[in-house]
Amino acid sequence: MVSRVIPVENFDLIIFGGTGDLARRKILPGLYRRFCAGQMPEKARIIGAARSEMDNDAYRDFVRVAVTEFGGKTASEANVLEEFLQRLHYVPIDARGDGGWADLAKLVRKDVVRAYYFSVGPGLFGDLAARLTKHGLADDTVRIVVEKPFGRDLASAKALNQALAEHFDESQVYRIDHYLGKETVQNLMAVRFGNMLFEPLWNSQYVDHIQITVAETVGVAGRGGYYDKSGAMRDMVQNHLMQLLCLIAMEPPSKFEPDAVRDEKLKVIRALDPVDHHHIVRGQYADGPDGHSYRDDAENLRSFTESFIAMRLNISNWRWAGTPFYLRTGKRLKARSSEITVVFKDAPHSIFGAEEGRHRNMLSIRLQPNEGMTLDVTIKEPGPGGMRLLDVPLDMSFADALGPDAEDVPDAYERLIMDVIRGNQTLFMRGDEVEAAWAWTDPVIAEWEARNDVPKPYEPGSAGPEDAMMLMHRDDRRWREIKT
Ligand code: NAD
Repeated sequence: MVSRVIPVENFDLIIFGGTGDLARRKILPGLYRRFCAGQMPEKARIIGAARSEMDNDAYRDFVRVAVTEFGGKTASEANVLEEFLQRLHYVPIDARGDGGWADLAKLVRKDVVRAYYFSVGPGLFGDLAARLTKHGLADDTVRIVVEKPFGRDLASAKALNQALAEHFDESQVYRIDHYLGKETVQNLMAVRFGNMLFEPLWNSQYVDHIQITVAETVGVAGRGGYYDKSGAMRDMVQNHLMQLLCLIAMEPPSKFEPDAVRDEKLKVIRALDPVDHHHIVRGQYADGPDGHSYRDDAENLRSFTESFIAMRLNISNWRWAGTPFYLRTGKRLKARSSEITVVFKDAPHSIFGAEEGRHRNMLSIRLQPNEGMTLDVTIKEPGPGGMRLLDVPLDMSFADALGPDAEDVPDAYERLIMDVIRGNQTLFMRGDEVEAAWAWTDPVIAEWEARNDVPKPYEPGSAGPEDAMMLMHRDDRRWREIKT
């Protein structure tokens, strides 16, 4: 396959929080993989900046270990790794004080792309933005990358947007939702807008309903303190599931360009009806065979935080009026699986007789694992004995279809960082999008908090609480089975 990768310019990427968990597990190994893929120009540099006192050599040792542990198969090429490490620098810095900033100002070049990655807690965003300006490190060409969580409600998200807007234009801010960096998530747009086959049917006239499932097998042990203040709604729905919903439901943008795409996503969020609490099921995993429940993992025995949520949403617009969207996500479920399924309506008239029952076309897009697509179509059951119908999947795994090329696909962080360097904001959330998502989320959470809603217990390894099944059954529908 001929590479059509857009080259990147020389850059200085400054990672505030360059010694943190995210830098160690995702950002630095991702950059190394891009280096191995020949995507890092000769004069590109990475500058770690964090609180720990260390010099360049100590930082290179730290990164060597991180890349070896998390770099995947490329990590074994020792000489390439050493070459990569020479691109790294480190400056100890205090985000809340002035220590280290003069050194950083001396190091950072002005004649290359400059991107500042705020891989620190959101409490430091405002401090970093102000100090970048104060020490002459910012102008209207630098780029700022910020991580989730972008606020915990509308007010805090607005405050963060405001803190950044005091120093930077919106066109300089790259808000990461790593789901948007996933290959299959972008494939949603390719499938919808690159094919003639699906789009004419992509509306309430032909679509019965749409399901979005993001199921995880892991619990919250190890990050229970953070998670317990957040829950599935804030941690997953407000950002990741909302982005998936937008991509599946939005109108075709006129171009695959940042504001054209983001304008359409924003319209979807604004068209979401407030969700009725009868259409929400919150769950919390109970004791499993290993003897620990959500409350044990969260170290909060009176916690009412949800580790699972399922809901039915309506989008009030011309395209989707009457087609419900069912979303669910949770921890410690039976399999790790993210999937979007578009369930089409029954054929208007069955020429085969009522006894043949219901046969529906379903298009499922698997985001992970085994990325691919399945289209369920109805065929004749083979053999004699009359016309009996059978649903069979036309199953396409991207790994099979693309062969070895599928293995070289960059992971979400690699792609997103390179997009920052290229100055392409298409796969990043705009400030108004994030605020609109919180404006929809806030009243839902406020409602259940006011009722002291107690999440329904569910067994680890299951598909979530029984009530989540009922949410569908009441509407004479079924969730697709969660399987890997
Ligand atoms: P972490 O606690 O492991 O690391 C924090 C980093 O910030 C360290 O390098 C530390 O030195 C630096 N730091 C803290 N206070 C500082 C100060 N006053 N001045 C200068 N540097 C300071 O955190 P993390 O897990 O790497 O997360 C970073 C951000 O990314 C957070 O906002 C987090 O919510 C987000 N995030 C993390 C993950 C993940 O997998 N770890 C995933 C998604 C989002």
